[in-house]
Amino acid sequence: SKGTISILGLGAMGSAIAARLRETGYATTVWNRTAAKTEPHVKAGAIAVATISEAAQASDIVVAVLLDHASVRENLEPAATELKGKVLVNLTTTTPNESRATAAWAADHGITYLDGAIMAVPAMIGRPGSRLLYSGDENAYAITKPALETLGATDFEGTDAGLASLKDMALLSAMYAMFGGVLQAVAMMRTVGVPATQTARDVTAWLSAVVPLAEPTVAVVDSGEYDPAPGQDVAFTRTAVRSLITAAREQGIGADFLEPLVKHLDELAATGRDTADWVSVIEQLSIAD
Ligand code: NDP
Repeated sequence: SKGTISILGLGAMGSAIAARLRETGYATTVWNRTAAKTEPHVKAGAIAVATISEAAQASDIVVAVLLDHASVRENLEPAATELKGKVLVNLTTTTPNESRATAAWAADHGITYLDGAIMAVPAMIGRPGSRLLYSGDENAYAITKPALETLGATDFEGTDAGLASLKDMALLSAMYAMFGGVLQAVAMMRTVGVPATQTARDVTAWLSAVVPLAEPTVAVVDSGEYDPAPGQDVAFTRTAVRSLITAAREQGIGADFLEPLVKHLDELAATGRDTADWVSVIEQLSIAD
């Protein structure tokens, strides 16, 4: 064995991670709130324990794959004494500030903390395309890297524990906005009887062609020199997006995902910025606190 790793949480993701670690030669100690879920793991060679304290005593590396921030804190806090001196890798999805809060709690208790974000679904763990982001203690990353590399490509984002989660959530934001757009296209084409899967195929081809434009389109954001527009300007884009909304309405459907964009473009036009690059709408995303 390459050593023992304790896994807390045997949901779909925790189970895939535990199985992959065993497959690559690690011994596993497993804990799950609902004890029955440990059974298939025990059959596959894992040792099941009834408490997180026991899981911490069994290994120098403890990997948490629970539901959310609250479940991590409520379950790990009682085991802080046993976790002292251990490396805790928290792969549970949390917001950047939740990750930072757990990092601060870990530091207070002498626990070496690495936060992680999984850019994969359970079936992808250990397979091509799986990518995991990490941030927090650099030494924890160095110690756990050989094991973590068996799960997928690894990227260390920095020592601020919130950075892995921040990038995770930024990428997921782009994904959900994109899928909102896919639904809009499907809704438009459905009005003339086109099946969703057929529209999805057309959308896939179109998005694949335009995705490479993402980098050149946003390049101007770094300099902030929007006017005159290096790319499409506010006037052009406002007309284009407005016609998309009109077309949707003509077919009897709304355009809920597009309307906020037009609202921002309207604001830019109303303040005399018709000739600025349309991506300057990014400057309107800041919120006052
Ligand atoms: P599941 O719903 O399959 O499993 C959830 C796990 O969390 C179970 O082990 C469950 O225990 C445990 N749990 C939930 N609430 C508590 C609690 N209050 N106290 C103790 N344990 C609790 O989810 P996944 O395994 O899919 O997800 C786990 C994490 O991985 C999540 O943070 C998720 O965002 C992240 N992730 C998942 C991906 C996916 O595609 N599935 C992709 C990327 C990240 P019990 O069995 O007792 O209910």
